[in-house]
Amino acid sequence: MIPESFLNELKYNTDIEQVIGRYVQLRRRGKNLTGLCPFHSEKTPSFSVTPSKQMYYCFGCGAGGNVFTFLMEYENFTFVEAMQYLAERASVELPKVDYSKEAKEAADKKAALLEINKLAAQYFYYQLRRQNGQKAWKYLVERGLTEETMKKFGLGYSDKYSDDLYKYLKGKGYKDEVVDERRGMYDKFWNRVIFPIMDVNSRVIGFGGRVMGDGKPKYLNSPETKIFDKSRNLYGLNAARTTRRKYLIVCEGYMDVITMHQA
Ligand code: ZN
Repeated sequence: MIPESFLNELKYNTDIEQVIGRYVQLRRRGKNLTGLCPFHSEKTPSFSVTPSKQMYYCFGCGAGGNVFTFLMEYENFTFVEAMQYLAERASVELPKVDYSKEAKEAADKKAALLEINKLAAQYFYYQLRRQNGQKAWKYLVERGLTEETMKKFGLGYSDKYSDDLYKYLKGKGYKDEVVDERRGMYDKFWNRVIFPIMDVNSRVIGFGGRVMGDGKPKYLNSPETKIFDKSRNLYGLNAARTTRRKYLIVCEGYMDVITMHQA
């Protein structure tokens, strides 16, 4: 349960004009603000925001609501995600929930794994842009990817040494029992172009790697972990999530997804 008082505090500290203004260019017209509706395609503005009521409404398609419904519709956030987003934005502290010891440990472990995956992704990203990563870079360019696309999808490279990343993470202060899982993964991922696999909220949860040259197997993926549930995640959904289109194109490989986004 979320305390009513917290939601009131959040609403009080949130300005709908600023939140929606990040997505829609708004112009003041009397008491209201108007702009082009982000929920349907139009050339003359029929989207209206009323700051005094903290509400929005579109006279073209009927979309309407408050700052929560806007974020849920536009960003595909759940209510809780919208709440977290707004709380962070307004520097309002989320109400403390009393978790059991087990639940807290599981949550801490998950957070640590996400942090390590993020560091690993940054590490691979950096390797691709160094001298040693040139072969992989050339491969991606030859496959038609632009630098911007490589950046957007966070592509990286794992070098030919087997303990590079392990040493890097140890250097960051991670103990063996946490890093071990990563070391196992890294041993698999050598001399490969790395595709970070992100969840719908763009958090790195695993990696796919394509070998450079004729090594086998051609493609290799992280195994399932506490944060990587293969039946609940789809590569590229974080990028496709905010599309305003009424359809999605589903394709099989990392490169297929990436090149179609680029096109
Ligand atoms: Zn509309």
